Amino acid sequence: MLPTPISAVTIDGRAFFVKRDDLIDPYLSGNKYRKLYTLVHTPKERFDTVISYGGTQSNAMLSIAKLCFDKGWRFLYYTKPLSQRQKEEVSGNFRYALEFGMEHKEVPHAIYKEFIASLTAQTDDRTFLLHQGGAVKEAKAGIAALAKEIQKQNPPVKALATPSGTGTTALFLALALPQYRVYTTPCVGDGAYLTKQMEALGEIPKNLVVLEPPKKHPFGKPNLEFYKLYVKLLEQTGIEFDLLYAPSMWKMVLEKTTEKILYIHSGGVIGNESMLKRYQKGSIKGD
Ligand SMILES: *Cc1c(COP(=O)(O)O)cnc(C)c1O
Repeated sequence: MLPTPISAVTIDGRAFFVKRDDLIDPYLSGNKYRKLYTLVHTPKERFDTVISYGGTQSNAMLSIAKLCFDKGWRFLYYTKPLSQRQKEEVSGNFRYALEFGMEHKEVPHAIYKEFIASLTAQTDDRTFLLHQGGAVKEAKAGIAALAKEIQKQNPPVKALATPSGTGTTALFLALALPQYRVYTTPCVGDGAYLTKQMEALGEIPKNLVVLEPPKKHPFGKPNLEFYKLYVKLLEQTGIEFDLLYAPSMWKMVLEKTTEKILYIHSGGVIGNESMLKRYQKGSIKGD
């Protein structure tokens, strides 16, 4: 569904807008669609195989799997060895990616780094190697397309918000839309780590504002506060957000900002399946 619609919502009595990039495709959604934009628009005859690597529940993995399924490309995905829990219980993103034909290969810890580094040399003209977090050059084009949609729709806001993993989305959005303030928050490491990641991609513009949470929360670990916020957002807006990134961003937006904001829904909702299972198992740690 493109251009994606913008929903008007109210949270705790405050008006917000949500850019519904979660509606692009259930499996290839949000900023992963935007970041894979160039590949999405590559004719299927161009490649036979896509290779990537990373975590077994990553949103990027599922998105690539869906893309390869649609294109008829072989998808090889390398990870570190699965834990006992992961082996016993194939769920969420990993399960769907396997259903889309992803060929999963475990690489022993001891040689993982070396192995990943060697992939570039093995890649031929018919194979596309996608580095973890999405290819940078390709991502820029897709985020620029998102920026264009926002400009055209022109919602009555001067600020946007989008949570960061690698920071690729937030940085390219801020660069493409200098007339907007772009709020982000680090979800994977701390603010210094995020800044370093973004600096490697380009110069950080003044309109990009990093809101750093006072307390660092380990990425992907069940957290009672996040879960409660996820439920609250669902109840008040009718929109399901992801459990890994969105709660962190919304918490900062609700606590540290006052203006009207367009929140970019970066998808990742399918990943909630495996996260919710962990919450149900009672592994929530409160604060
Ligand atoms: C991947 C992802 C992010 C992080 O995007 P980056 O461009 O790596 O910063 C944020 N939200 C969701 C839902 C994601 O899947």
